Amino acid sequence: MPFASFAANLSGLPMPPVLPTIVHLDADAFFVSVELALQPHYRGKKVAVGGRERGIIASASYEARACGVYTPMPTSRAFKVCPDLILLPHKGSYGAVSRKMFDLCETLTPYVQRNSIDEGYLDLGPCGLKSADEIEGAVRGLQKRIWDELQIPVSMGIATNKLVAQIASKLRKPRGFVVVLPGAEASFLEPLAIGKLPGVGDKTETALQTHGIWKIRDLFTKAERELEALLGRDWPAFLAMARGEDDRPVETEHEDAKSYSQQETFSKDVADFSEIERTAKGMIDALMPTIRRDGKRVRTMTIKVRYGDFTQESAGKSLPEAADLEQPFYPLVPVLLKKAWSRQRPLRLISVRFSGVEDGARQLDLFAATDEKRRKLAAVMDQMNSRGNNLRVRHGHQLPPRD
Ligand SMILES: [Mg+2]
Repeated sequence: MPFASFAANLSGLPMPPVLPTIVHLDADAFFVSVELALQPHYRGKKVAVGGRERGIIASASYEARACGVYTPMPTSRAFKVCPDLILLPHKGSYGAVSRKMFDLCETLTPYVQRNSIDEGYLDLGPCGLKSADEIEGAVRGLQKRIWDELQIPVSMGIATNKLVAQIASKLRKPRGFVVVLPGAEASFLEPLAIGKLPGVGDKTETALQTHGIWKIRDLFTKAERELEALLGRDWPAFLAMARGEDDRPVETEHEDAKSYSQQETFSKDVADFSEIERTAKGMIDALMPTIRRDGKRVRTMTIKVRYGDFTQESAGKSLPEAADLEQPFYPLVPVLLKKAWSRQRPLRLISVRFSGVEDGARQLDLFAATDEKRRKLAAVMDQMNSRGNNLRVRHGHQLPPRD
C-alpha cells in the first residue's frame, strides 16, 4: 500500500514532474527463502539457515524471528530460545539465485545497482514512466515476477532517493511495499525511531535516547552545540540525512565496468579482525566471477571501512598486472585492512572495490602455468555455482555467509 499520509499536499502548486523513480529492493530472509524455494514443505515454519556445530544463524524465517531467533546468533542460543527450530544447512546456490533476481530487475531498467547478494537499487528515471502510479504498477509487477519465477519474497521501497527508498523497503517486511511521494521525505522520516537511520547502531541509538532523541523528529529540537557534542563534526550531514536528503546516484557498476564493488553493513558493529578479513575475502569471491563473466581484468583493490559514527577510511593497492583470479588479491586483504582500519573501534560497514578495469585475454606471463590451472578451476566453480542445482563450491576461507 502506498502511504497516503506520507504524500505531501502538492495540489495547486506548479510542480515540475518529480517522480519517485528510485527503488530499493531487499529480499526477505534471503538464504532461508532460497532454501524454502527448494523445500517448500518447510514454509510457514520456524526455519533458519546456519551451521550446527558451534555455528551461527545466517538467516531466519519470520516465524523463527518471532520466536527470538536473529542473525548473527550462535546456533546453540537459537535452539535455547526456540527449541523446535528447524535448522537447514547451506545448500542453495545463493549467488545464482541472486543473479537471477537482479537479471529480472534488469528487464525493467538497465540501471540496477547490485549492492549485496540480496539488496539493490533500481533507477526507473530513464524508463519513460509518467506517473507515480505507473511506477508503482511496474514495481509491483517486478515483485510478483520475482516471487512467481524464483519463489523469493522481496520488499520494495520507492522514493526520490536511495536513502529514503532503503528505509522504506525495510519498514514493512516481509513482502513490504512502501511508496514515499516526492516532497514527503521529511514527514515520512520524522515519526520513525532514530535507529532506522542507516549507520545508527544499537550503541549510538542508546546514546541518543539518553539525550531524549527517540524519534528522528527529536533531532530537530536540539541545539547545534548539543548535536555536535552527540554526533561529532559531521552532524550537518547527519541532519541532512534525517531530513531525507540524499543525492547519491544509482551506480550500475558492472554495466560500464569502471569498477566492481560490494559492501556489507553489519547488523551489529564488528570488532573481530578475522571475521572482517573473511568477509572481505568473501567479497572477492563474489565479485571475481562477474569480472570473468564480463571478460575483464582488474588491477586495483580498495578496502573501505566505516565506523559506527559514519566516519570512514580506505586503503588501496594495485597489482603489477591486472588479474581476473581471486588468489592474487587475497594477500592484499590483511595488508589493506590494517591500513584502513586505523582506529581501535568496531566497524559498521566494509566494502571491497576493484578498479583499474582492463579487457581480459592477456596472460600473466610469470605465473602463466599456475594461473592457467587456477583459471580452469575458477571456470568450473563459476559454472557449478551458477547452475541452480544444490551444489555450492566454496573457497576454504568461506564460513557461512550472513544475511
Ligand atoms: Mg534482505
